[in-house]
Amino acid sequence: MAAGEAERILVSVRLRPVNAREAERGDGSDWECAGPTTLMFRGNIPERAMFPATYAYDRVFNPECSTQQVYEQGAKRVAMSVLNGINSSIFAYGQTSSGKTYTMVGVTEHSMSDIYDYIDKHPEREFALKFSAMEIYNEAVRDLLNPEATQLRLLDDPEKGTVVEKLTEETLTDKGHLLELLAVCEAQRQIGETALNETSSRSHQILRLTIESSAKQFMGRGNSSTLMACVNFVDLAGSERASQTQAAGTRLKEGSHINRSLLTLGKVIRQLSKGGNGHIPYRDSKLTRILQSSLGGNARTAIICTMSPAHCHLEQSRNTLLFANCAK
Ligand code: ADP
Ligand code: MG
Repeated sequence: MAAGEAERILVSVRLRPVNAREAERGDGSDWECAGPTTLMFRGNIPERAMFPATYAYDRVFNPECSTQQVYEQGAKRVAMSVLNGINSSIFAYGQTSSGKTYTMVGVTEHSMSDIYDYIDKHPEREFALKFSAMEIYNEAVRDLLNPEATQLRLLDDPEKGTVVEKLTEETLTDKGHLLELLAVCEAQRQIGETALNETSSRSHQILRLTIESSAKQFMGRGNSSTLMACVNFVDLAGSERASQTQAAGTRLKEGSHINRSLLTLGKVIRQLSKGGNGHIPYRDSKLTRILQSSLGGNARTAIICTMSPAHCHLEQSRNTLLFANCAK
């Protein structure tokens, strides 16, 4: 592995299939994959000459790719690093209805499956798993495992960094238990109705799995072979601007908060991918504070940018690619 490669952010772009609504309005596909790492713009528009025709990322996935492939090539390495005691985060970024949730649900399930497979294959070690889940909505942090807790505070712990006060941490008994909790989170999730997609969410969701492991005879007695880390699965709110969802009133307020969190995430990611010792504005949003110990430093990060290839989404798709370019 080349120097510095371990810290690099893994950036991929996934195209979803053109949907029935897009096809009905006669929208063609503007984008296609020209190989495993190159995305090509092939839309027929007057300003075409002003657009770059090709875009390179660590991986690009065409609409026929399965979520398993996306997981294997775009997230697995990052997710599994939790088993080596390395914190990690996997993000889905993109406009509403581009496939973030579709992708993240699958990536989370594949990751959990592989983690449990790994545990089964390592009987010489003892593993303790904990699960927590939260949602950031209007810069308020809500516990998805305890719906009453809607305004959790963030505290600065001298050892652990930022902690979410009173967040439920379920100790997992087995994989079935984890699947039950995932279902609870899905049901709890705040669903917003926007003009773009009735079932889209305007909140950020973070599912976190914390794993502690130790050689069997030492478990719980803190020895040099104890490893502890967490992996975060982050389904971001839609990246479109509030104005484009024809938002009004409270929706506008939500929109501006969403943009602020995404904006800060963008700044943090840009600083991290530039390297160097510039100031990283983790503290400017709840999202980046919560994820600080899993972003940058020794942590591993994967960003899966989801896109509709349909022509009507051209402007948003280009915004998504700008974000992806910053992260490279
Ligand atoms: P988002 O979370 O970005 O708003 P969703 O994940 O809800 O978008 O996806 C919008 C719709 O498109 C859903 O009905 C979803 O099932 C479908 N979809 C998204 N990505 C894919 C894909 N790669 N293949 C097939 N259907 C998809
Ligand atoms: Mg969604």
